[in-house]
Amino acid sequence: MDTLLLEEMTWREIDEAGKNGYDSVLIFAASIEQHGPALPEMTDTVLGYAEAVDLARRLGHTLVAPVIRPGLSAHHMGFPGSLTLRPEVFRGVVEDYVAAYVRHGFRTIILSSSHGGNFGALEEIARQQGEVYPQVCIVTGSSLDELDELLMEMDRMEGQPSGTCGGHACDWETSMMMMLDESYVRRDCLQKGLVGALTGELLERFFRDGVRSVSEIGVIGDPTGASAEKGRRYFARWQDAQEQTIREKIKAWSLDRGRD
Ligand SMILES: [Zn+2]
Repeated sequence: MDTLLLEEMTWREIDEAGKNGYDSVLIFAASIEQHGPALPEMTDTVLGYAEAVDLARRLGHTLVAPVIRPGLSAHHMGFPGSLTLRPEVFRGVVEDYVAAYVRHGFRTIILSSSHGGNFGALEEIARQQGEVYPQVCIVTGSSLDELDELLMEMDRMEGQPSGTCGGHACDWETSMMMMLDESYVRRDCLQKGLVGALTGELLERFFRDGVRSVSEIGVIGDPTGASAEKGRRYFARWQDAQEQTIREKIKAWSLDRGRD
């Protein structure tokens, strides 16, 4: 098949794919929100498509749903252009996606996120939807904790100060955007943001008073050394982790249900 994106396919192609064993669907939730002075608002959405399509190829017999956005971005609203959904609206959209794909015959539904603010809500929604559709394998991808661990590992891997890959418009996101298309990145606008552990009181402030209260430019990390080359290393490592987590969760569900 030329594409794994459901929105690019015709209904006949989707029907045919189902008959050929494509019974899994990846639903990524992203955001439309500020990403510092150098990256566009659509950054998490672009990365969500790239991650989902690559994961679908790795997992096999998997198609990709239209990436959900906006997401939950209340803490980014201090900057022009950011959008955020009310939590109940976000939940409703995800539930309607799940209902549709269950109806269309998908047997495995993977809910994942390319935006930090969605992870917690998705975990909860996946758990509840699993109760609504016990016959369908509904799992989440990697957790936010898993991502945070990996970002620290990536800084060590590259031999750069801890917090360079801070998680928002940082070296990690900027490098992956460069890998996908250099023209996404305003190179002359790359600026160092908050570098250091976003924990304790600072993390509390981040969510309570918004990103702007910890970084005036909206950057958590330091993207000034970003490159497409690093982006390829980051992407491969993150995708390996996501693939492994998803495979483990699907296996655990199957064992639990006695399904092969
Ligand atoms: Zn982002």
